[in-house]
Amino acid sequence: MQLSSLLERFNEPETLKMAKLGRELRAKGFDITDLSLGEPDFDTPDHIKEAAKKAIDDNYSHYTPVAGYPDLREAVCTKLKRDNNLDYTPDQILVSTGAKQSIANIIMSIVDAGDEVIIPTPYWVTYSEIVRMAGGEVKFVHAGIESGYKITAAQLEAAITDKTKLFMFSSPCNPSGAVYSKEELAALAGVFAKHPDVFIMSDEIYEYINYEGKHESIAQFSEIKNRVVIVNGLSKGYAMTGWRLGYIAADSTVIKACEKIQGQVTSGTNAVTQRAAITALTGDMRPTAMMVTEFTKRRKRVLELVAEIPGMVCSEPQGAFYIFPEVSNFFGKADGEDKIDNADDLCMYLLNKAHVSTVTGKAFGAPNCIRLSFANSMENIEKGFSKIKEALAKLK
Ligand code: PLP
Repeated sequence: MQLSSLLERFNEPETLKMAKLGRELRAKGFDITDLSLGEPDFDTPDHIKEAAKKAIDDNYSHYTPVAGYPDLREAVCTKLKRDNNLDYTPDQILVSTGAKQSIANIIMSIVDAGDEVIIPTPYWVTYSEIVRMAGGEVKFVHAGIESGYKITAAQLEAAITDKTKLFMFSSPCNPSGAVYSKEELAALAGVFAKHPDVFIMSDEIYEYINYEGKHESIAQFSEIKNRVVIVNGLSKGYAMTGWRLGYIAADSTVIKACEKIQGQVTSGTNAVTQRAAITALTGDMRPTAMMVTEFTKRRKRVLELVAEIPGMVCSEPQGAFYIFPEVSNFFGKADGEDKIDNADDLCMYLLNKAHVSTVTGKAFGAPNCIRLSFANSMENIEKGFSKIKEALAKLK
């Protein structure tokens, strides 16, 4: 059976692979603690669920406009003004089935075969793979633990060539938790101002999960705003991963291009989800604040627990709900049965011996690291880290 060559250009997400392996072991009766999760462990706030129930009763059961209901696009504009002091009009907004689809729309609208796309490492797994699906060339720029997992303006300037079409990043970053300050973004914007053919995709889906202060968007710099494409969504900030709603804010030319693609791939996003999204975006933000308060407590505890594990080197995440320690101190070691040569081996060792699922840093372009999520209860965090500490102590 001959399938398409497209399939050979990209990999399946490592994050989903680990979740699958964990589920398989759990089905065999093992008590697996899941620290690989990329979603809040909270339930969707009640007022949003009520809005969805009402939408069902009000018969929101038909196709929607491809770009989203006009009042939802308006609500996104209201949110961007309220939270980010950014001015957008509804024709500059497109609603998609999750931010993942927003990202796919953007890449397919902007990137041609052979175009270069700059991605700072570590990065969210999906960026590079969709660029490859589109035939683009991925160009990674290294940002390690020593620079707080952030790139500098000088690194960006050095990476841009005549072929550069797009720059993609997330702040707060999944997996590193790095958050770019206004000054750091201003420096990057200064470089982009000199390169008028480069688009900037700013993934702000972890906007609310910020432990340092105010979220800053690179779209605030007027000299580049028409080339900035903001991606955001409801998954992380409102505990709505399964509802599948993401959105794009960009110049209307980009929005029209994305709408054309989405019109052939999925049409409009789920009608009930869109109605609930209006309530989420314009309604009570206290449930989100409560989740962030809980993540803040867990972050503090996780950093204490990591500090008790010899060999794990960790920087403090400024946002999102992951820690991303360097684990190369364990490479070359063995427990008598399993030898650890890299981060993949370490994740498999932790899964099979400690029964804790984590994600290898290789998936995020950082092969000396692993990602541990603290989107799990304090009880599971304590249990998971205690099992990790015990298993790592056996590596000699
Ligand atoms: N961007 C980042 C950085 C993410 O971590 C994720 C999900 O893990 C997404 C986008 C996609 O989110 P959605 O659930 O809206 O597709």
